[in-house]
Amino acid sequence: RAHLDRIAAVDGAVHAFLHVNEAALDAASDIDRRRAAGEELGPLAGVPIAIKDVLVTTGMPSTSGSRILEGWIPPYDATPVRKVREAGMVPLGKTNMDEFAMGSSTEHSAYGPTHNPWDLDRIPGGSGGGSAAAVAAFEAPIALGSDTGGSIRQPAHVTGTVGVKPTYGGVSRYGSIALASSLDQVGPVSRTVLDSALLHDVIAGHDPLDSTSISDPWPSMAEAVRRADVSGLRIGVVKELDTDGFQAGVRSRFHEALELLERNGAEIVEVSTPNFEYAVAAYYLIMPAEASSNLAKFDSVRFGLRVTPEGGGTVEQVMAATREAGFGPEVKRRVILGTYALSAGYYDAYYGSAQKVRTLVQRDFDAAFANVDVLATPTAPTTAFRLGEKLDDPLAMYLNDVATIPANLAGVPGISLPAGLAPEDGLPVGIQFLAPAREDARLYNVGGALE
Ligand code: GLN
Repeated sequence: RAHLDRIAAVDGAVHAFLHVNEAALDAASDIDRRRAAGEELGPLAGVPIAIKDVLVTTGMPSTSGSRILEGWIPPYDATPVRKVREAGMVPLGKTNMDEFAMGSSTEHSAYGPTHNPWDLDRIPGGSGGGSAAAVAAFEAPIALGSDTGGSIRQPAHVTGTVGVKPTYGGVSRYGSIALASSLDQVGPVSRTVLDSALLHDVIAGHDPLDSTSISDPWPSMAEAVRRADVSGLRIGVVKELDTDGFQAGVRSRFHEALELLERNGAEIVEVSTPNFEYAVAAYYLIMPAEASSNLAKFDSVRFGLRVTPEGGGTVEQVMAATREAGFGPEVKRRVILGTYALSAGYYDAYYGSAQKVRTLVQRDFDAAFANVDVLATPTAPTTAFRLGEKLDDPLAMYLNDVATIPANLAGVPGISLPAGLAPEDGLPVGIQFLAPAREDARLYNVGGALE
C-alpha cells in the first residue's frame, strides 16, 4: 500500500511506470494468508518489485517501450518473473524503458521519458531508466532490469542505485523480449548490495527454456555479501577507462572507493585492455545486426499493432505500414544499420570484423583475469545529463556505454555500486566491478565490503 501510495504521489513527475499492477494488493494479501497458515516463505516473500517492461508478464501489458506492442498482454510469464512470483514477491507494475531497450536515457520510449528523481530535468539512464528511477524514488524497493550493453548498470550509476548484470547464461532470457540474444542478460536493481544479491539468488539458475542457460548450480550471492572480505583481493584498474574522457567528479569518487578498498586490505594494480577501445564500435554492429533479426517478428500478424493502408494493401504493404507507424526513429535506425551490416557483400567487412573484435575483447579479459580477481572502472563517463541534451546525436549517446559494453561482449558479470556524489554537480556516481564468467559472487563480495 505504501509503495502504491508513493507511486500515486510521485510518478506523475518521475514517470517510472508504464503500468501499475491493480492486483498488487490482492497478491500481497495472499502472501499474508500463506504466511499465517504457517507456510515457509523465502526472504523476499511479500516484497514488492517493479519489472522492466522488456519482460513478458501475464495479467499486465508488455510493450518493451514500443507502440508496436501497445496493449499486448502476453499469455505467459518470463522465467525471471515466474521465479519472483514463486518467491512470493509482488509485482508493482511495469517500468519504462527505451524502445526495445535501445538507448541510454529512456528518452527513446514511445511513451515519453522517465525523469531522474535526483533532478527531474535530467535523464535516469537507459534503457532501464524506469526500473532505476522507481527504486531511487522509493516507488519500489527493488526491480528487475535487462542489460545488453549497460542498461542495468548505467541507470544505476546515474540514480545512485545498485545494478547487476549477471554472467551471460546465469539468468534465463526466456520471456525477455530479445534485443541482441548473444548480449542480453536480466538482472537486479536495488538500493543495497544485499537486496540485489537476494534477488539474484531468486532469479538465477538453469532453465531448459533458454538454450544458453548455464546448467551448473550457483553459490549464494547473499552469502557472498554477508561474508564480504576483500583482504588479499587483487583489483585491476582498467587504464583505458581511467582517462580525462571521464568527468572529474566521476574519477575522484572512483579513486576514493578504490582507496577505501585498499585500506580494507585489497591490492590495487593497473591493468591494460587495449582492445576495449574498439568495443563500442563492434557492439554497435553486432547489437543492431541481432536486433534487426529479432525484430523481424513484429510483422503485423503475430503481435500487437496492425496498420492497413487506406483502401487495403498487400501483406507486404500492411507489414510496412505497421512497422512504419509502430517503430520509433532509434529502432528504425538500428534495423537499417543491422540489416546493412548483415547484407551480402558487407557481411565480412562489418559484422565479421565486429565478431573478431569481440574475440579480442574477450582475450583482453582473459589476460587481465590471469592477474587480478576483479576489474574496476567508473560505470559511465559522466553523471546524469539533461533530458534532450544528446537526443539528436546518436554517437554521443552511444559513447555513454564505453565502460559497460565490454562485459556484454565477453559475457562476464558486472555490478555498478553507488560511489557518492560528484562534487561539481551533486549528482550520483557509480563504480563498476567486473569478474570472470561464473564468478558473480566476487562482485557481491566487493559490493558488500564497500557498503
Ligand atoms: N545503451 C545501450 C544501447 O543503446 C545498451 C542498451 C541495453 O543494455 N539494453 O544499446
